[in-house]
Amino acid sequence: MKSLFTTLMLGFVIVSATAQKIAPPLLEPIKKEDLKRDVFALADDKFLGREAGTIDEFRGAVWFVEEMRKAGMEPAGENGTFYQFFDLYLRRITPNTWLKIGDKKLKLWKDFIPASLSPARLNNKEVVYVGKASPEELKKLDIESKIIAVQSSLEGIKTNISLFHKRFYYLIEDRYNAVFKEKKVAGVIFIANDLYENNWDAMIHELKRGRNGIKDFRNKIIKDVPIFWVHKKESSFLKDNKLTLNAEIGVQLFKYPSANLIGKIEGTDPELKKEYVLFSSHHDHVGVRETVKRDSIINGADDNASMCAAVLAIARSFKKQPAKRSALFVIHGAEEMSMLGSRWHAWNPVVPKESIVCVLNGDLIGRNAIDSAALLGAWGPHRTSDELVEAAMEANKEGPNFTIDKSWDDPDHPEFFFFRSDHAPYARVGIPVLFYTSLLHDEYHTPLDNADRMNYDKLYKMVEWIYRTGWKVANMKDRPKYLKTANFDK
Ligand SMILES: [Zn+2]
Repeated sequence: MKSLFTTLMLGFVIVSATAQKIAPPLLEPIKKEDLKRDVFALADDKFLGREAGTIDEFRGAVWFVEEMRKAGMEPAGENGTFYQFFDLYLRRITPNTWLKIGDKKLKLWKDFIPASLSPARLNNKEVVYVGKASPEELKKLDIESKIIAVQSSLEGIKTNISLFHKRFYYLIEDRYNAVFKEKKVAGVIFIANDLYENNWDAMIHELKRGRNGIKDFRNKIIKDVPIFWVHKKESSFLKDNKLTLNAEIGVQLFKYPSANLIGKIEGTDPELKKEYVLFSSHHDHVGVRETVKRDSIINGADDNASMCAAVLAIARSFKKQPAKRSALFVIHGAEEMSMLGSRWHAWNPVVPKESIVCVLNGDLIGRNAIDSAALLGAWGPHRTSDELVEAAMEANKEGPNFTIDKSWDDPDHPEFFFFRSDHAPYARVGIPVLFYTSLLHDEYHTPLDNADRMNYDKLYKMVEWIYRTGWKVANMKDRPKYLKTANFDK
């Protein structure tokens, strides 16, 4: 009897020590009607798809900053404002770019597409036709300082992925990039396959826009080796003749502003309030593009007005009931251009990097089945913190009780989704992260991603989950530790 009593007492002591007397989360300020109203407002046609670097991105941002203020946030950007500005460098092909193979002059965009964005001049370079040679086969050939003509193929490329029709050309290039550099080829001609021919106009549309970078982040955008895509019909011409190539690639550089929108709600503990739980979203989207069902404005209701509305709701709750730690709300710009805003803030945070205890990022959080969702950064090499994942799991049990899809953290998952939203740059600088998402769908990055297509019951449940996790972490005694085993090679 006595020993049972002691055991019970011990059990009691242990339980109360881990529970740490955290006040219950306050869900009342988080309302489905508010989420719906804010998604409709930010995903309105009048913002023309909020493309980064354009006035449309800023018109959306200006509206959003007012909402941040109304939700009770203090400005935490530069100079007492909600803004952290950064420069986008846009590189774009100039119309005087030309290409001549043998005696044949090819017309820019109509006959050839330049797919590299560094200026180049090529004089009388020998062309070597290599057929469908694999990267390994290319290694054995004598191709230094020559132009190689490669038949494009889909070998080794996973085709069952989102936006494949827009991405396949650089997936093909990526397969060869290392060997092009290693062999010091002077340039590359890719000969289109049927897939490329069918999407030639869409490709032009993408490549004519150019690509954006930020300071210290150029290598991914600028390919060292000049690359030209030509039509399938040039195949025999390239194969059967001894040819030389002359070309010039002109590139213009433009500078445009973008901005992260940053607010905070101070914590109540004199020491812990110097630390921040960072809630992350992005306010930009992809602008006006190809027409689908007579609409060309890509409003990005799910991507990512959904998490923007969530951030406002979470702030309303923290305002009414602040936690021990402070809450930092960062709504990134230029996410759709390789997460440029979050790279910028992860490298230049508005608070000391060491004071950010975790990043809770949401992207696409209002679609698909009501009872399931995905969490990334939680398993395998992408897991950044045991305590953080534990908090999210507990929060899920206490709140929405989703069936959690773990497969998206697999390093071999064909979508590489872990690397496609704003938490990723923070994970790489040593901050524990989680990525909450209701995953991709057929209307992702199309003019059909509209506010009236969202599931607001699902959105509410996602917000509850993220808020409950944040509430736990903002009040726990010891901050989540970053795992040394975290690895982001793939
Ligand atoms: Zn997104």
